[in-house]
Parts: sequence; structure tokens; C-alpha cells
Amino acid sequence: MARYINAVCKLCRREGEKLFIKGSKCNTEKCAVEKKPYPPGERGRGGARTRETDYLIQLREKQKVKRIYGILEKQFKNYFKRALKMKGITGTNLLVFLETRLDNIVYLLGFAESRPQARQLVNHGHILVNEKKMKVPSYQVKAGQEIEIVKKSKKIQAVAQSIAQSSETEIPRWLQVDHKELKGKVISLPEREDIDQSIKEQIIVELYSR
Ligand code: SF4
Repeated sequence: MARYINAVCKLCRREGEKLFIKGSKCNTEKCAVEKKPYPPGERGRGGARTRETDYLIQLREKQKVKRIYGILEKQFKNYFKRALKMKGITGTNLLVFLETRLDNIVYLLGFAESRPQARQLVNHGHILVNEKKMKVPSYQVKAGQEIEIVKKSKKIQAVAQSIAQSSETEIPRWLQVDHKELKGKVISLPEREDIDQSIKEQIIVELYSR
């Protein structure tokens, strides 16, 4: 499985905002963005400043989104190509693809503290989609499909911990969850307003349109 292997907190510091990659630690004072609110490396503390060109701003936004969802360049570009071919707004299509990945939905349902942890649950065979085991984190979940933790995996400590920290009322409106049964459902595909408002997808579209 392709994934980032460098210290993940540096990714947040590079983007200058919390990307919530490490789960519960992200909401504590141990968060590296709180402790070191400047980019990693010698230049981070106010050394030579990089001029913010349009290209650089577009590039940073793309990097940020890749890092939020834990996607590498090739796969991200493939999502973009598919989004471009579809009807509708390319940027929104792109975000819907990312948002409806199985690992992301497992995270949003509160079964994992972070997207990387959700991906691990999928990879290790702890997740069912419509009662069938699905081990592909990038699997695109469709409206009407049900997601569930495998029966014998329901006692996994990380899952219980995550459920204890999340509330059913915080689940996005396009999802439904039963935290007692560890079951969820995609009611409909997300609309743009359901997805992280801090993302400026249009400038990513501009980057790929250069
Ligand atoms: Fe990012 Fe979480 Fe690390 Fe903070 S603790 S820098 S939000 S991964």
C-alpha cells in the first residue's frame, strides 16, 4: 500500500493548519501545529520568505487535500481525470470521489479516530460493505450501501475508543450510523456544503488546467 512515511505532523506544519491525521492527539496541546506554528525546516522560523505565486498557492492547496485524505499524486490525478469527464462541477466531483472512499466513510462514521486508522481497519479486513468483506480503502461507496464492522472485530480497542469519543449527532447528514451495532449507511452522496469548507477545490482545478 502506498502511503506517506514521513512524520505526519510535519505535513500539517507545512500546510500551516491542522489536517487531523493523528486522531485524538490532534485535539490536544501536543499537536505540533499548536506547539510549532511555523513550517518545518530552518526557514520556517522567519528565514527567507518564499514569494506566493498563483502556482505556489494552487500547489499548496492540492498538497493539503492529498494529505487530508492520504492520497498520493498518481491516484489524486486519476481522481481529477475522472472528475473532469463527469457531468457537473469538476472540483465538486473531485471532492465527492475523495469523500466517498471507504476509508474516509469509516472515519466519518466514527469507527476510527483518523483516516489512517480507518484505512488500517479496511486493509486488515475488519470492514463489511453490504455484508461482504471489503479490503480496498479506495473503494467508492455508493448511496444506499451499508458499512459495518466485522462481528468478531467489534471488540477492537481502537474502535471502542473512537466510538467513545465521537457522537452520532456529529455524523454528516448524508450518513447514518448506529454506534451500538457498529453499522452505518450512506443515505445519499454528499453535496458540496457537506464537505470541508476550508478546501478551495477550484484552485486545484486551475492547477491541473495549466
Ligand atoms: Fe496535524 Fe494532528 Fe499532528 Fe496536529 S497532532 S500536527 S493536527 S497530525
